[in-house]
Amino acid sequence: MHNKRKHPTRYAPGCCGRYAELDMDWINEAKRIFRIEKPEHFTNYTHCEECEEHDQTLNRSTIDSIGLDELGNPGWNPICFSSVEGKKYYMPSFIRLSLETMHSEFYLGQLLSCLEGDGKENKLYCACNAEQRSFITDFIEYIILHHTEQLEANGCEMEALKVQGIWSNA
Ligand SMILES: [Zn+2]
Repeated sequence: MHNKRKHPTRYAPGCCGRYAELDMDWINEAKRIFRIEKPEHFTNYTHCEECEEHDQTLNRSTIDSIGLDELGNPGWNPICFSSVEGKKYYMPSFIRLSLETMHSEFYLGQLLSCLEGDGKENKLYCACNAEQRSFITDFIEYIILHHTEQLEANGCEMEALKVQGIWSNA
């Protein structure tokens, strides 16, 4: 039929391997929809040493390179200190990490809290345009439909529904 897969799959065979191409589509679509200029600074970098270090981490990383080394520690998470522009800039990375770690570290849990923020009309939601909001809604819907078991295993199914409600403005 077709053989357009350019990247080797990171999934265990027989598990989510069949989703690998679809995952690449989500990541590429996120890059298209969240194509914005890299902010000069991501945090209030003059505030303190922690803010400065998080700013440097986000500055020296790229959308394709940033990973769990930078973002995987919820107790030392640069994204919590980032401006909404910074979060939008790295949205394709959040999508990639969520998909890559669906059966392991489950980065999706962090993405869900980032998308939930303080609830309806949170800052990130307000800073996104209609196309970006509908991409997020579609992605969360895809996760709810196709990764139900992983959501349940990580106790995130209610939060996913909540996030879907926020981003679809339901
Ligand atoms: Zn600070």
